[in-house]
Amino acid sequence: QVNRDPEIQTARLQLPILGEEQAVMEAIKENEIVLLVGETGSGKTTQVPQFLYEAGYALQGTIGITEPRRVAAVNMSQRVALEMSLPRSKVSYQIRYEGNTTSETCVKFMTDGVLLREVEKDFLLSNYSVIVIDEAHERSVYTDILIGLLSRIVLLRKKQGNVLKLIIMSATLRVEDFTNNTALFSPTPPVVKVESRQFPVTIHFNKRTPTDYVNETFRKVVKIHKTLPDGGILVFLTGQNEIHSLCRKLRNIFPYKNSLKPSDQENTSEKKAGINLDDYSMSSKTMVIDREMEDEDVGEAVIADDDSSSESECHDTQCFDDTNSSPMYVLPLYSLLSNEKQRKVFETPPDNARFCVVATNVAETSLTIPNIKYVVDAGMVKRRYYDKTTGVSSFKITWTSQASANQRAGRAGRVGPGHCYRLYSSAVFNNDFEEFTQPDILRRPVDDLVLQMKAINIDKVVNFPFPTPPESKVLETAEKLLIDLGALAPKKTRKGVITSIITSLGRTMTKFPVSPRYAKMLCLGHQNQCLQYVIVVVAALTVHEIFSSGGREGEDKKERISSITKLRRRWAGDGLSQLLGDFMVMLRAVGAAEFSGCSSKFCQSSGLRHKAMVEVRKLRVQLTNAVNGVNPDAQLYVDPKMKPPSPSQTKILRQIILSCFGENVARRMSAEDCANRQIKNAYECHLTEDPVFIHPTSALFTVLPEFIVFQEIVETTKLYVKGVAAVEPDWFA
Ligand code: ADP
Ligand code: MG
Repeated sequence: QVNRDPEIQTARLQLPILGEEQAVMEAIKENEIVLLVGETGSGKTTQVPQFLYEAGYALQGTIGITEPRRVAAVNMSQRVALEMSLPRSKVSYQIRYEGNTTSETCVKFMTDGVLLREVEKDFLLSNYSVIVIDEAHERSVYTDILIGLLSRIVLLRKKQGNVLKLIIMSATLRVEDFTNNTALFSPTPPVVKVESRQFPVTIHFNKRTPTDYVNETFRKVVKIHKTLPDGGILVFLTGQNEIHSLCRKLRNIFPYKNSLKPSDQENTSEKKAGINLDDYSMSSKTMVIDREMEDEDVGEAVIADDDSSSESECHDTQCFDDTNSSPMYVLPLYSLLSNEKQRKVFETPPDNARFCVVATNVAETSLTIPNIKYVVDAGMVKRRYYDKTTGVSSFKITWTSQASANQRAGRAGRVGPGHCYRLYSSAVFNNDFEEFTQPDILRRPVDDLVLQMKAINIDKVVNFPFPTPPESKVLETAEKLLIDLGALAPKKTRKGVITSIITSLGRTMTKFPVSPRYAKMLCLGHQNQCLQYVIVVVAALTVHEIFSSGGREGEDKKERISSITKLRRRWAGDGLSQLLGDFMVMLRAVGAAEFSGCSSKFCQSSGLRHKAMVEVRKLRVQLTNAVNGVNPDAQLYVDPKMKPPSPSQTKILRQIILSCFGENVARRMSAEDCANRQIKNAYECHLTEDPVFIHPTSALFTVLPEFIVFQEIVETTKLYVKGVAAVEPDWFA
């Protein structure tokens, strides 16, 4: 039935899961729900979809596989298509902004957010015969919610006589949250374990824990390269600034001749992106977008303010100086990297150089990088933290968990005995690392989830079978925000309990694949032909971090930041237009990028992140279609030469922003109060006790209006507000 390339077949037979095919398939045949637990690299993601296909499950419906990370959805669909010698029209993927599914698709990889949206449209997921929830141990919010929903959907489908199989796959991490949870699954589903052929990995702890882990990582990689036998090196760092800085240093001292210069790579990726707006337009019926954004992708700009370590030169370069060193083939890997560059890590590396991949968490369990013998683990992870009451968010680089450090170490034992170098002491590991990473749902606001659940008519969100329930206070806060936005209306039940139900505004809001506040903006945008502007603002806010933080190699960072800040001020304009502040900058930035044809050269020189601008463009098309779908009279289109808004439109835009960010307002502190506290240009904001400040990169940093509305508070050295516009006192209701 499936014709595989002999070489691929040989490689498959090496995978531990192949020996378990019968056990796995029998468990699935006899149970609606099966948990499949196996070490990373054992073949779960690439092989289980093939087992299902060969057992005929694709004849009864689509085989759906969810991934928490976009990188994995795209890469894995391509890998499985290749292994099965099937076209990508049959083994396809769908992620937030794009996909290649067709009416012939029988194996569909998607992000978990995409499937959640599909549940909203068709609760029973009638088109699917099997759902595989992959990487369940990552505990992404959407995965958690899907598992809760699917526990019920499976029962309903069984009642209907149209069985849906659910397979939950997880690396060998704690699965008790799924198995010891009778509210979720009763009876407990069987757990099939895949024994792994993992080679021993020797763990080496540092005696002392260094303060500058980026530098320490560099020293360790250099030492491994110089003193230890052949074998690939995999380095774990926290984000793209660190990754690029390390790649740069390693390439400098161990140059690899044939490696493409970064600028060449940039150009090819731009050409391949081959942007044609029509490619991305989809009818609103097929529009599926999720809202996932990985922490390590964002927060670069914010963190970079305080993070000078990645820029500082390594003082030890000299002591390693040795002209006899062999070359090193160094590749970065993180989610925001273009697909072509991501794929490079799977290509056969040149054999005259040492292979080295510098990655974020994405290499921990989602992608198995071949031929790794040494792992260098800085032990750090970047996460976004939210203050539960104020909603203040901050990016923090903290210790990862013991479970995740052990996963990282395991990456060294795939091809033979390996070594893991932990750049921290065993005391730190034992005392300061938490045992497991907390599920995402406990770490972020849940307003979008609550709205989605209400849209699926789950009235009592507190009773939902979460694998790990969030605090009821968090659910209440979300419900309150949604009531304030008019998406939910309070309602008394017969027993007198107050609950809330979705309003027609709320239903309309769920048609827009963005967070509830932004969806509300879209619902208000029809006044005075402001919609096209609102769409751009929402797209830019949703994509997050459209401005880049890094510059070109060798460029002076301070100079660059100052010239880009100047450009932003110019984009903001003056007079009334300036009062729209950072939102005007977003409009003008997107407009200018579009005018340039979204060229990466233009983005680079204007301090815009090219990949983000491409995403903004796609999202803009999708939102425009969604708006036309909700209101066919709108007849909106994406204007590549959009004019800036008129002064009266600017004013309406400010009012729309105010009504959606209602509580995110601040008032300038009097000169006297500032003097008393020995601070300058502070604002008071009822959300926090401490004063807040306009971020230096904001267009309103030098303007300092009396009243402001802002997108978010981000904590670095101070509490900074970002995404700022001026508002008038008489607009407050
Ligand atoms: P698991 O899901 O259990 O972690 P996978 O199915 O992802 O395991 O990986 C099984 C094997 O397939 C690994 O040895 C990995 O190196 C290989 N593999 C996965 N993706 C690719 C790819 N794009 N190119 C080459 N090999 C790959
Ligand atoms: Mg996997």
